[in-house]
Amino acid sequence: MSVSVQMELDDGEVRQHDADPKVLAKSSGERDWVALSSAILECRAARHLWGAPVSRLIASFLVGKSALPEDVGLGTSYSALMRLAFDVEDVLPLLERRFGNDLGWTHARALGRERARLRSVLAAGREDEINQLEALLMEHRKSDDPMCGFLARIVACACLGSAHLWSDLGLSNRGQLRRLLSSAFPDLVASNIRDMRWKRFLYRQLCERGGDYLCRAPSCEECTSYAECFILPTDDESRSH
Ligand code: SF4
Repeated sequence: MSVSVQMELDDGEVRQHDADPKVLAKSSGERDWVALSSAILECRAARHLWGAPVSRLIASFLVGKSALPEDVGLGTSYSALMRLAFDVEDVLPLLERRFGNDLGWTHARALGRERARLRSVLAAGREDEINQLEALLMEHRKSDDPMCGFLARIVACACLGSAHLWSDLGLSNRGQLRRLLSSAFPDLVASNIRDMRWKRFLYRQLCERGGDYLCRAPSCEECTSYAECFILPTDDESRSH
């Protein structure tokens, strides 16, 4: 059975085409559950403004390729996110019906559950930090659309990961993260005029409010962490991180 697939390209353009999930899996040369699950979830999210990146985020979470805790940090609001983004109570039964007999899917889901459980343990010990990041994002949300609130919590939880924010959210690259943040928190994104790395940028905001998370120098120019916070012209990774 084919499905209508919305794929977001690296430059943000969204294209629609028909595809067979099994063919998609085989054509990738390996069972890339992230890409495959994203494609399927995107079918359900086509009507929502942020469908593509949220689909990617959820798909990565389900197969253990993000740094998000259980229920992507939303607790009982997880099902509300599902309804808003995908118009169903939960996308998991949809995917289980399609891939439940596949060993690769079974392993990926087991990994996803275990990683989310461990992330929840970590998050429980840093609840104040998550709440401060969430509050910062909420202050800058574009509107009262519930998706802005969901994303504030999800992004705050992902900040506890050890990689770049786009990766800890399970997104495909920095450009996709920027588009997602711009959709929900445009003023905050616009204030990153020096193109800081996003996780560092958010913690920098907390430091300016008296938090003690990141900055040990009076100014960035005097700080030994400069290269970790800012994308340098010579940085080969500048467009992806
Ligand atoms: S360069 Fe140093 S002072 Fe500036 S944001 Fe990074 S850690 Fe803070």
